[in-house]
Amino acid sequence: MRLHEYQARELLTQAGVPVPASEVISTVDEAVAAYKKIGERVVVKAQVFAGGRGKAGFVKLCASESEVKDAAQFMLSNKMVSKQTGPDGIEVKKLLIAAAVDIESEYYVGMVIDRAKNTPVMMVSREGGVEIEEVAARNPDAIIKEWLHPHLGLQPFQLGKLIGALGFTEKAQIKSTRLALLGIADIFLKYDASLAEINPLVRTTAGEVLAIDAKMTFDDNALFRHKDLLGMHDPAGEDPNELRAKEHDLSYIALDGNIGCLVNGAGLAMSTMDIIKLHGGEPANFLDVGGSVTTEGAVEAFKIILSDSKVKGILVNIFGGIAKCDVIAAALIQAATQIGFKVPVVVRLEGTNVEKAREMLEAAKIDQLIPASDLTDAAKKVCAAV
Ligand code: GDP
Ligand code: MN
Repeated sequence: MRLHEYQARELLTQAGVPVPASEVISTVDEAVAAYKKIGERVVVKAQVFAGGRGKAGFVKLCASESEVKDAAQFMLSNKMVSKQTGPDGIEVKKLLIAAAVDIESEYYVGMVIDRAKNTPVMMVSREGGVEIEEVAARNPDAIIKEWLHPHLGLQPFQLGKLIGALGFTEKAQIKSTRLALLGIADIFLKYDASLAEINPLVRTTAGEVLAIDAKMTFDDNALFRHKDLLGMHDPAGEDPNELRAKEHDLSYIALDGNIGCLVNGAGLAMSTMDIIKLHGGEPANFLDVGGSVTTEGAVEAFKIILSDSKVKGILVNIFGGIAKCDVIAAALIQAATQIGFKVPVVVRLEGTNVEKAREMLEAAKIDQLIPASDLTDAAKKVCAAV
């Protein structure tokens, strides 16, 4: 689950991190009222689940009532298109009106799980304000890391190193930076986060250190023990296909490739993705239809995969154990007649009722359907097809 910036700012404030005053609003009138309260110079910021708002024109510095009005009007009535939204863009329903700051320099502070070391890692950089992935690709040495002991958390000596790496030497600035680093570590550990970052943390021309943007994502499997976070949930942050899959008891995770996968069983789905990659392809999703899949569930699974415009081919890999191959075959035929396959669908079936399933598929003469003799054959065929 992901939080909006205004919600992340609330958590930062609770954790003692210095954050400029702000209000979240959803109409132009409210924007003007908030401006009058907060002060002469504000920054109007779209509250959406996508970064790159600055470049897209959805973070605007305003120094008058009419500027705030125009910015709010523009953001609430236009979709935001950035590198992270895709060409269709996303609707903006809420805006943050925050006190503006004069920035001298921008820094990055963030925490994620380091999967190789199985422990949280805190990262800081003097190259803040840009995406950290960019910094990591261009100048990895500019990111300084400290790994946390799973029980001891962020230690004072580590704090010292990180603050030193950021280059702060003034007492008040060290204090604020300390609060920012400790705040991120506290939030990350307390709420089972998978990502907590401040980008940028800024030093103002007046010498203050403040967090002016934050991004936080939490582990869905731990949400049951964070009722306060559940109250902040906005379904707009989720992949609509993942929500749809959840409703039909399908385990679906969208990925970046172009080969859709429909598989029964999580382990088989993982190996299907592996073998696609082995043959030079990239999976577009993980999809486990489960052991006791129905025709309706499988048809829904096809609809979800086919609604992803990146998908240029599908690999159906079914091992009929509890699930029967003929049920999947029936679903394939139904999906083909209901929605039609616009891309090649390679099918590998094995196990219970496989003979019956093959007969059904042959008789149905489905356009775009390519039968495969085994998994390797299927992977090669789908990679060749896309
Ligand atoms: P993002 O582009 O979605 O990450 O949105 P941010 O909130 O990080 O804002 C993008 C950039 O806008 C920041 O890196 C700053 O350079 C600038 N910015 C944001 N707030 C202020 C502000 O209060 N004053 C000034 N001068 N610049 C700001
Ligand atoms: Mn940012």
